[in-house]
Amino acid sequence: MINAPKGTKDVLPAQSYKWQYIEDCARETARLFGLKETRTPVFEHTELFLRGVGETTDVVNKEMYTFEDKGGRSVTLKPEGTAGVVRSFIENGMSSLPMPVKTFYITPAFRYERPQAGRLREFHQFGIEVFGAKSADADAEVIFAASTFLKKSGIKNVRLELNSIGCPDCRAEYNKKLKDFLRPRLDGMCSDCRSRFDKNPLRILDCKEEGCKKITAGAPKIVDCLCDDCRAHFARVQSLLSVRGEKFEVNPNIVRGLDYYTRTVFEFVSDEIGAQGTVCGGGRYDGLVESLGGAPTPAIGFAAGLERLLLLMENTGVTFPEEQKPVIYIAGLDEKCRAVAFDIALSLRANGVPCEVDLMERSVKAQFKYADKLGAQFVAAIGGNELETGFVDIKNMSDGTSERVNLSGICEYCKKAGAGV
Ligand code: ATP
Ligand code: MG
Repeated sequence: MINAPKGTKDVLPAQSYKWQYIEDCARETARLFGLKETRTPVFEHTELFLRGVGETTDVVNKEMYTFEDKGGRSVTLKPEGTAGVVRSFIENGMSSLPMPVKTFYITPAFRYERPQAGRLREFHQFGIEVFGAKSADADAEVIFAASTFLKKSGIKNVRLELNSIGCPDCRAEYNKKLKDFLRPRLDGMCSDCRSRFDKNPLRILDCKEEGCKKITAGAPKIVDCLCDDCRAHFARVQSLLSVRGEKFEVNPNIVRGLDYYTRTVFEFVSDEIGAQGTVCGGGRYDGLVESLGGAPTPAIGFAAGLERLLLLMENTGVTFPEEQKPVIYIAGLDEKCRAVAFDIALSLRANGVPCEVDLMERSVKAQFKYADKLGAQFVAAIGGNELETGFVDIKNMSDGTSERVNLSGICEYCKKAGAGV
């Protein structure tokens, strides 16, 4: 008996309609916001993530699935979606397209983490990226796209938390202040934070250890240290959201796990699924395209964790649209009748009517029972009499009534009866 690897989860046939619904919500959001899909490989050269995600992040330091392929190249299963999309944007010369370039992805992602509720080793993200626009309107549009997606999924009680982490200029100033504050307090912090202190002090604000959180609660806030341009940009983003009634709070401790963010960062957070409450995280990454070898190109995006979203939908009683059931089950008495049923089924399907026939050589009675379990709306049983007369009774399974129909008219009948066709 071989089990699935730790931290992975099968999507079973009886559950997959929920996933399809979430993906429909994502695609519908993308359609409304004019985002076209990008599909990139599941694995990339390791170097892409070292540079694109950043060597000081947990993702790169601890969580990547990296291995050598048989040609001796180091490759890595994508731990997130952005780096691959940016690589593709550059490699395919997309900076010469009319700007902005707006794209989305739905992708598996892989991180070697301690599995728990809402945290897996293979998980899935819906993400969007908007390239080329530096305006605060682009930030607002991306945030509204995230909020539209979450609303479509039917979840409530998620709050939007917003911050600005400035540009490399004001951040350098801020890092100095932050380090001055933290230096005398380092002894009380976790070993991760002590090593972040030199390499990437901002990340300390993101630490989830209680002890570290207590200390950083009193730290200077980056929003108080922004340069004029960054401050004006952040004010504009906030006002674009406010005037449209999009509620948010500024949370100075949101810095995002990944290195490439500049200016606006945001998260949509829920308190209803425990500690792993961030369902969607995003922000601006104006430096990333250039740092991966492209022309300087401002960009902004988000990624939503679909397992967490599903958890939240289930925990808060969101009703998923019902699964498609067979409109009709065509039962057959014996081999000859089953062959006719089989042909009728094929022609129904060719006409867009979902239907089922017996594959188990069951008795007609057992076929009726099975059809009921499947939730078929109608059952038509074909026996010798039906072959002779060319007519069959179509039984409505919900009220037990039946109607006599010409064998060649079953499709028409189902289409008229409507539901599910
Ligand atoms: P966290 O703080 O929870 O570790 P993160 O900052 O590492 O999240 P991002 O890299 O921004 O997360 O990824 C975007 C989204 O993907 C997260 O908000 C979350 O919903 C989801 N996500 C991240 N890691 C996992 C995981 N291991 N399992 C399931 N979902 C995840
Ligand atoms: Mg993480």
